[in-house]
Amino acid sequence: MKTGNAILSGYGTTVFEVFSRLAVEYGAINLGQGFPDDRGPADVLDAAARALLEDSNQYPPMMGLAALRQALADHAHRFYGLEVDWQREVMVTSGATEALTACLLGLIEAGDEVVLFEPLYDSYLPIIRLAGGVPRLVSLRPPDWSFSRADLAAAFSSRTKLVVLNDPLNPAAKVFSAEELALIAEFVDGADAYAVCDEVYEHLVFDGRRHIPLITLPGMRERCLKIGSAGKTFSLTGWKVGYVTAAPALLQPVAKAHQYLTFTTPPNLQTAVAYGLGKDDGYFTGLAADLEAKRDRLARGIAAAGLTVLPSAGSYFVIADFRPTGFVGNDEAFCRHLTTEIGVAAIPVSAFYAGPPLDHCIRFCFCKSDALLDAAADRLAGAFR
Ligand code: PMP
Ligand code: GLN
Repeated sequence: MKTGNAILSGYGTTVFEVFSRLAVEYGAINLGQGFPDDRGPADVLDAAARALLEDSNQYPPMMGLAALRQALADHAHRFYGLEVDWQREVMVTSGATEALTACLLGLIEAGDEVVLFEPLYDSYLPIIRLAGGVPRLVSLRPPDWSFSRADLAAAFSSRTKLVVLNDPLNPAAKVFSAEELALIAEFVDGADAYAVCDEVYEHLVFDGRRHIPLITLPGMRERCLKIGSAGKTFSLTGWKVGYVTAAPALLQPVAKAHQYLTFTTPPNLQTAVAYGLGKDDGYFTGLAADLEAKRDRLARGIAAAGLTVLPSAGSYFVIADFRPTGFVGNDEAFCRHLTTEIGVAAIPVSAFYAGPPLDHCIRFCFCKSDALLDAAADRLAGAFR
């Protein structure tokens, strides 16, 4: 029998699916895969339901509904001071996953080098490899996930086509500083390269920090593709509505990929997201404040159980080092033990590495009800204290 694509066959089922299934099988509290356990904003759900019943359910325009593209241009101006031409610079996709795939397939040619920061989100590398790209990894150093000019100098070259920057960073919960972004911009410019900016957690930043999109830095407007996700901004991860904002010359090849990947995205969800993006500032600050409180709640619980908690500046996640528990085995073994014996699912951080992994840390997701977070903390304390 002939086999399937060798690059894809080399990958297993994604770690998120693996641990969500295991959590169901063992009745564990699922702090693995990143999804909120509440219903999401009622008015946004209502807007989707109304649009489903009252508006067209046929193919919307390939680039997205005008109302959503206009709302995205307004959003970019309101939060980041960006002037965006909604007709030429905004495209709606079926989730950030599709936006990323369209950017990578639309821009990479065989042999192009792609710079990535490790730990990295799991969907980047398989798509880069399918496109024939050659990954160049920059390994970030915990606990602050830092990197140096020399690290970038070793990864970038005249062959660099683009860098993928995930900020805030899953799973490390790092928010890149203005200085770090300026350094990245300098290298992107110097290599005459592009930046695919995965900013799905743009509104989930804590402790008074501000998310700075790379595209707002000097010289970056024509080099960056900014990706967002309604799934994260409205706590509706199943909706899979994503978006790309980029200069016309960059967006055009990406639109070519999108037209053959999914072509469109459900119109009622687009209408509802357009409505949601217009919500007042209180919605967006409230979302971050809510998650910040949940981060603190879970972090306290994990620390009380004896694990070492790493800083979390943004996203849905907090990382913990489990070595103080005395567990013998790697992060994968610890997560299996946690899920099947202790009743709490988490994600091994090594799953976010292609090179030599960090294998003594696990990722917990805190976008859950306080009762669930407390129950998980109780189980951890019962097991390790
Ligand atoms: N990028 C990162 C860093 C993520 O954590 C996720 C999680 N879902 C995605 C992209 C995908 O977003 P979406 O669900 O909108 O496809
Ligand atoms: N982004 C989510 C996470 O990191 C998972 C999305 C998925 O399951 N592919 O947990």
